[in-house]
Amino acid sequence: MAAPLSSTLRIAIAGAGMGGLATALALAKQGFQHIHVYETASNLGFVGAGIQVAPNLSRVLQNLGVWDYMKDDAVEMKEASIRASATDEELANVKLTHVAERYGQPHSVAHRSALANALYEGCKAAAPCVTIHFCTTVLDVDFEHTRVRVKERDEVGDGHWVDADVVLGGDGVKSVIRKCMLTRHGEDGDVKDTGQAAYRIMLRREQLAHDPELLALLQSNTTYRWIGPRRHIIAYPISSNTIFNISTAQPDVNFAAEPTATWTTRADKSAMLNVYSDFCPLVVRMLELVPEGEVCEWKLRVHHPLKTWVEGNVALLGDACHPTLPHLNQGAAQAIEDGAVLGVVLSKLTHKSDIHAGLLVYERLRKSRTEHLVEEAAASGRALHLTDPEAQAARDEAFRQVKHGGPNPDRAVDREVQDRVYGHDCVRNAEEWFGEYFAEAKGSRGHV
Ligand SMILES: Cc1cc2nc3c(=O)[nH]c(=O)nc-3n(C[C@H](O)[C@H](O)[C@H](O)COP(=O)(O)OP(=O)(O)OC[C@H]3O[C@@H](n4cnc5c(N)ncnc54)[C@H](O)[C@@H]3O)c2cc1C
Repeated sequence: MAAPLSSTLRIAIAGAGMGGLATALALAKQGFQHIHVYETASNLGFVGAGIQVAPNLSRVLQNLGVWDYMKDDAVEMKEASIRASATDEELANVKLTHVAERYGQPHSVAHRSALANALYEGCKAAAPCVTIHFCTTVLDVDFEHTRVRVKERDEVGDGHWVDADVVLGGDGVKSVIRKCMLTRHGEDGDVKDTGQAAYRIMLRREQLAHDPELLALLQSNTTYRWIGPRRHIIAYPISSNTIFNISTAQPDVNFAAEPTATWTTRADKSAMLNVYSDFCPLVVRMLELVPEGEVCEWKLRVHHPLKTWVEGNVALLGDACHPTLPHLNQGAAQAIEDGAVLGVVLSKLTHKSDIHAGLLVYERLRKSRTEHLVEEAAASGRALHLTDPEAQAARDEAFRQVKHGGPNPDRAVDREVQDRVYGHDCVRNAEEWFGEYFAEAKGSRGHV
């Protein structure tokens, strides 16, 4: 049955990223008919990178009916291998074969474009309920009247206002909507320097084919993490084992030297080789295969937690409100969970005057979970990047004890963390708690 407000509610979403697209799709699935997504870029701008699709993410994708669009690209991971960067010694080997049985979905990895495309196909199938306005930038938001000022690429002047009943800011880590909200609350910039940057690289099968050891990595169903002081590399096969995806984390030198630079940039191959020159010969050989001009570097960004994600009938989602370090592989997953929960919450409202209270329920369902995961990812990075030899030795011993049931310093593959992250069904949780939280929101802060 369609949601009570589905035929009238006008929903404006800033950003057609992972969170924005998932939100549009989740709302369309609930029967909403007037969903407009405004995206600066002229298309989805597929970044060449892999993405880990943990069970909590694939569960949502199944619910949204878009998993089938990407299932052929996805590779199921059977194990995670954590290795010492200098020697290639395997410190821990964590089987992931229990994941499908324990959490109902396997742990997969895929091309980022396969995930974005799946969400996009879902949105296209939901037309005319969902309209994506490419080449259209959101410049401002009016919290009093619930509207956004947007500017199309060829438009002359300062753009025009679009009225809505709900505005959702899925405009990523540099969110304009978040900036407007902070200004309204009298707060300044909230950037927290991670001091970290990442190279993202892809090697195709033909580039590895001459090297049996590297080819074996591509043909495996394993995520490899090589850890060293202040740096690590994670790599895994994607796109039906035809591409080896490599992502690094190292101290940020380049963006720190040029703070005005964009946050993603083509990087210098020799500089990258220099950063990882003391890693084992296997890794160095792998990095040497990257063609000049195909190294991309990203500044890894986080913010201090926001006091609130909601102002009037405007709410934030995804990296706009909880950007995270990639060490737990949960950034996109959490953005997409946000979208699924917004779908549930808005579908339960029966009066437009309840929208603010509904958004407060959404915040309550999502804020503590995502902030906890942001912290967990940062803690995992600290453990992986230790520099003190004694602390490193203790950590490596902890890795060796994982097979006897000890905690895993790599939190992404720790059993207890997986229970919390993978075991959470965000849609079921929203269904379960909506009634109680909504009554409380209306009783306290909601405009009713
Ligand atoms: C190195 C690295 C590895 C990662 N690995 C993983 C992983 O394995 N698993 C995982 O789940 N996550 C991973 N992530 C995190 C993940 O990529 C992000 O958390 C996720 O993309 C956030 O989704 P989002 O929709 O909030 O933002 P985005 O995907 O960034 O989308 C924001 C969109 O808004 C648009 N936009 C911005 N401003 C405006 C505006 N003013 N008007 C209109 N449009 C606008 C942008 O063009 C963009 O399309 C990784 C991140 C990095 C950096």
